Amino acid sequence: MRLSNYFVPTLKEVPNDAVVASHILMLRSGLIRMVGAGIYSFLPLGYRVIKKISEIIREEMDAIGGQEFHLPALNPKEIWEETGRVEAFGDTMFHIKNRDYVLAPTHEEIMTFHARNVLKSYKDMPQIWYQIQTKFRNEPRPRSGVIRGREFLMKDAYSFDINQEEQDKSYNKHDSAYRKIFDRCKIKYFVVGASSGAMGGSGSEEFMVKSDAGEDTVAHCDSCGYSANVEVASSRVDGKNRENKSAKTKEIHTPNVKSIDELCQFLKIDETQCAKSRVYIHKGKPVLILMLGNEDVNESKLEKLLGAAVRPGHPEELAEITGADAGSIGPIGFNGRIIADNRLKDANNLFSGANKNDYHIGGIDFKRDVETLEYADLRIVETGEGCPNCDNKLDVFTAIELGHIFKLGTKYSETMGALYLDENGKELPLVMGSYGIGVERVMACCIEQNHDEYGIIWDKTLAPFDVHLIGLNMKKETVVEASEKIYEDLREAGFDVLFDDRTNVQAGFKFNDADLLGMPVQVIVGDKKLKESATGGKVEVKLRRTGERFDVELSELISKIKEKSKNID
Ligand code: ATP
Ligand code: MG
Repeated sequence: MRLSNYFVPTLKEVPNDAVVASHILMLRSGLIRMVGAGIYSFLPLGYRVIKKISEIIREEMDAIGGQEFHLPALNPKEIWEETGRVEAFGDTMFHIKNRDYVLAPTHEEIMTFHARNVLKSYKDMPQIWYQIQTKFRNEPRPRSGVIRGREFLMKDAYSFDINQEEQDKSYNKHDSAYRKIFDRCKIKYFVVGASSGAMGGSGSEEFMVKSDAGEDTVAHCDSCGYSANVEVASSRVDGKNRENKSAKTKEIHTPNVKSIDELCQFLKIDETQCAKSRVYIHKGKPVLILMLGNEDVNESKLEKLLGAAVRPGHPEELAEITGADAGSIGPIGFNGRIIADNRLKDANNLFSGANKNDYHIGGIDFKRDVETLEYADLRIVETGEGCPNCDNKLDVFTAIELGHIFKLGTKYSETMGALYLDENGKELPLVMGSYGIGVERVMACCIEQNHDEYGIIWDKTLAPFDVHLIGLNMKKETVVEASEKIYEDLREAGFDVLFDDRTNVQAGFKFNDADLLGMPVQVIVGDKKLKESATGGKVEVKLRRTGERFDVELSELISKIKEKSKNID
C-alpha cells in the first residue's frame, strides 16, 4: 500500500480527551476515530488489525468444532422478554423507538431461539456455535476509547450439551482455545476464577490483562497464579497477637478525637492497638463491624457474608443506635450483631469507642468483654501481603477483562423451552455455556502492552503491515527507482508492505510516522547508502522493537528480512 494515497490521518499531538495509552496511540496513528461517545470508526489501517484478530479467533474456534453464525443485531423484543432480560439489562439495552425491537447486547436469546427449533435429540449434541458480531450496550460511562464502547465487536460462542459432564468438556475446549488465541496475539494475561483462584475453579473464568485502563481491581500472585477480584480476594496477614495479660477496661475522656489517627496521637498508642468501628444497616438492622487499626471494610465481602445488600448507617441513625457519633462508637454496650475482622481474632488490650461522644474505652478483651462476637475475613487485600496459596507476595492492580467463559447451565433452555429427548425418550433442557471475547479490547491490550514513547510496537502476527518501506527523498530518481523495485520484490516475496512514497514529506516526519505506526521492520532507502556499495547499493533496516539498525546489500534484503522476521515478536 502506498502511503501517498492511503487514508492514515496521523496526529502529532495527544488528543485532549484521551488518557489511556492505547486510546491515545490508536487516535494518533490513525487507526480509529470517534464518531460519538463510545462510538468509533475503524479506519483502513485499524481495520486490518481487527481482521487479523478475528481470523486468529476464527481459526481457534473452528479448531474446537465451532460453527460460525452471523446473527442479527436488531432483535424482536419479544424473544428477550422470554428470559426476562429486557428488564435485567435495563438502561444498558438500546431500544428502537416506536417499534418492538432492541439492539442485541449479547446473543444468548437468539442462539437459544435457533437451538430450540433444531436440537431435538441427544444425537444432535454437542454443538458449539459462535459469531463475531457487533454488540450494543448503552454503557453509562464509555471510556478508554474502544475498551469500553457503546458499540463493539464480540466473538460470542455458545455450547449446547446433554448434561453437565458433556458441558464441562465444551467449557474446557473453550478454555484451551482462549489460551491459544491470547498466546497467538502475544498478550500477557492471567485467569481469574481458575482452579488456583479464590472461586475454586467454579463455572466461570475471566481472562484479564493488567492495565491502568482497567476497571476491575484484582489480586494476583506471579508465582502460583492465584488471581482474584479484590471483592473476594484474601491474603495471608498476621493478626493482632493476644497478649499474655489483659488489662482492665477503663473509660478515657478523649475530647474531639474522631479518627483512629487522632486517637493514636492523643493516647500515644499504635493503630494496631485500636479496633475501628463501622455501623452498617443490613435488612433494616444495625451490624457493627470492627477492623484492626485504620483498615477499611470490604463491603463486597460483607454483603457476601450477610447474603444481602448493606449500607453504611447515616449519622442520625448512628446517634440513635449507639448514642454516639461515628468517631466514638465501639463494641462495649453495642446493641446488635457484631462482626470483627479475622485480624482481631481473640485480641485483648484494645482501644475502641465508648458509644458516648468524646469517650473511648481502653483494655478491651474481645474474649472477656464482648459476648457474641463473630469473626470473618472482611479486609481489602493490598500489594505486598502474602499469597493465600503459596509463600509469595500478592500484587494488587487494575485490569481489563478480555474474555469470559461461563457455564450457563439450563437457565436459558428452561425459560425458552429448548428441550431435547434423551436416550430413554425423556425430555430435558439443553445444558449451555457462553463464551465472549472483546475483539477491540484484544487490539487495545496489545497496544497497552507494546508501545514506547514514540508509538506502537506491533507484533508480527497483528501488525497491519509486515514492512514499512521508507523512500527518503522521493524526488531523487535513484531513490524512486530502488524503492519501487524493493516494494515490488518484497510483495512478491509475500510481505505486506506499507510504502512511504510521499514526495512532499521530510525524512524526519517519515521516521516519526514509521515509529508511531509501529510495523515490525522498517526499510529505509536513501541516496547515500545506495551509492555505498559496488554491487548495487545498500539500504538501512531498522527493527522497531529493539531499535536495532543495520545496513543490508540490496541483493540480500529479502533473505535478511525473512531471517530477521522469524525472530521478531
Ligand atoms: P465488563 O465487566 O468489562 O463490562 P462484561 O462482563 O460486561 O465486561 P461480557 O458480557 O462477559 O462482558 O462480554 C464479553 C466480552 O466482551 C468481555 O470480556 C469484553 O472483552 C467485551 N466487552 C464487554 N463490554 C464491552 C464494551 N462496552 N466495549 C468493548 N468490549 C466489551
Ligand atoms: Mg459490562
